[in-house]
Amino acid sequence: MEKKRVLITGAAGFLGSHLCDRFIKEGYDVIGMDNLVTGDLRNIEHLFKLQQFDFYHHDVTKFIHVPGPIDYILHFASPASPIDYLKIPIQTLKVGALGTHNCLGLAKAKNARMLVASTSEVYGDPLVHPQTEEYWGNVNPVGPRGVYDEAKRFMESITMAYHTFHGVQTRIVRIFNTYGPRMRLNDGRALPAFIGQALRGEDLTVFGDGSQTRSFCYVDDLVEGIYRLLLSDYAYPVNVGNPVEISLLDFAKEIIALTGTEQKIIFKPLPVDDPRQRKPDITKAKTLLGWEPLVDRATGLKITYDYFRSLPREELFKQPKEFNSIK
Ligand code: NAD
Repeated sequence: MEKKRVLITGAAGFLGSHLCDRFIKEGYDVIGMDNLVTGDLRNIEHLFKLQQFDFYHHDVTKFIHVPGPIDYILHFASPASPIDYLKIPIQTLKVGALGTHNCLGLAKAKNARMLVASTSEVYGDPLVHPQTEEYWGNVNPVGPRGVYDEAKRFMESITMAYHTFHGVQTRIVRIFNTYGPRMRLNDGRALPAFIGQALRGEDLTVFGDGSQTRSFCYVDDLVEGIYRLLLSDYAYPVNVGNPVEISLLDFAKEIIALTGTEQKIIFKPLPVDDPRQRKPDITKAKTLLGWEPLVDRATGLKITYDYFRSLPREELFKQPKEFNSIK
């Protein structure tokens, strides 16, 4: 049988790089594409020596040309953490809109199946709990987070339109907070922020009173869910995440226990439009894909903490990326 070929956009990022690993392991030829705006080549440098792996340094908001057949496209390119997309709002809207359009055009031309990385942020600050795929969300389009949330909502719409109008095979995964090795320490998300603060010997910063909740999924579980969804025949959105919910205050306490830091927790004002609660209803993933998360938080956090501890010490003090030249 001929080898299948998969294109993964956002390949040098946190999730994209884990997907590259998984598809290589499954015996696919993998083409990684990334413009490195928030990604890091170090996440995939171990793949460069492999004959099954190719890398295109390319911005997916520009026309995409890949010679030869493609069986699957996984569109994961997009700034993903608030600290990034608040600094590059236009780029974020463009990659969700133009980038998705370009990938869908390529999928149509190559007769490839395409899976897009949507997000629990399409539910905004949800009025329904836990969030089912049928809930339409509560998003402020003109708030600071709107650039990300609405880009992803547009992405879902255009993906469904290519499915119904052009007959392209499409899959939509709504990803809830995921963590694991290769996250960036300074990307502003709660987990790396807490671990970074603990490793630097700083107090842990909790926003608001810390009663807002999140549900954290370990990256290997997420990748398994995505892999199963891609190979399924279901074109509507599917939540993939870990339904075990925790308040950010309790989470900060867990990190203190894990790292053994003697620092305390300090409180800062809640960012605008910060969602109060997040918890996926994963009935669909369970029934359609036979999927549920297997890695509990204690195990996943230990692996992630060991990864952050293994980084060179100067990584701990790196400032967040600046994007001055990007429009
Ligand atoms: P990341 O920032 O680590 O990876 C994103 C990658 O996309 C980076 O390597 C970046 O350089 C690349 N990229 C951005 N714009 C690009 C462009 N125009 N052209 C080519 N490459 C571009 O983020 P991540 O956490 O790995 O997220 C990956 C995807 O998953 C994103 O689409 C994100 O919205 C989605 N997602 C992630 C989470 C999560 O918890 N990590 C949750 C929901 C959705």
